[in-house]
Amino acid sequence: DHRIARISSAIRVIPDFPKPGIMFQDITTLLLDPQAFKDTIDLFVERYKGKNISVVAGIEARGFIFGPPIALAIGAKFVPMRKPNKLPGAVISQEYALEYGTDKIEMHVGAVQAGERALVIDDLIATGGTLCAAINLLERVEVDVVECACVIELPELKGRDRLGDKPLFVLVSAA
Ligand code: IMP
Repeated sequence: DHRIARISSAIRVIPDFPKPGIMFQDITTLLLDPQAFKDTIDLFVERYKGKNISVVAGIEARGFIFGPPIALAIGAKFVPMRKPNKLPGAVISQEYALEYGTDKIEMHVGAVQAGERALVIDDLIATGGTLCAAINLLERVEVDVVECACVIELPELKGRDRLGDKPLFVLVSAA
């Protein structure tokens, strides 16, 4: 698909951010290119429309950029999966391991119902820990996670393997 090349070249790589040795994939430059941004959303919408998905769950923060336009286009609700202590109502939370220590994501109680079909969206999969936590959280409330989708995959980190049988769809693979 010719759109992938444009998307890939619109993503900027910033070395040594947020710490030395990290090549940070920066999607803010993709947002500056309206055609590339539209192509990104269109590719996801083409994949998920008509698949009976009622929930798009977006992971803070960049899942909040890509998730809502996809949700609107496929007629699904958007559910934010947030960092701890950000959501004002009662939450259900899921802890997950980081390289050093742990982190948590949270979702409002009542945002989703048992039996709903969800897509989980984020900008990027690295180790897969974040997506795994999101899947676990949704499955704890008996939501069917149909697939995870990211703009970018860092294949060297093998996050895809960590997702097990759960399908992962990505637009760009960053070497
Ligand atoms: P994982 O849990 O190791 O897969 O890390 C994925 C999470 O870290 C996602 O929420 C990403 O937004 C963020 N992340 C890790 N590396 C990058 C990067 O290079 N660019 C943008 N986000 C990143």
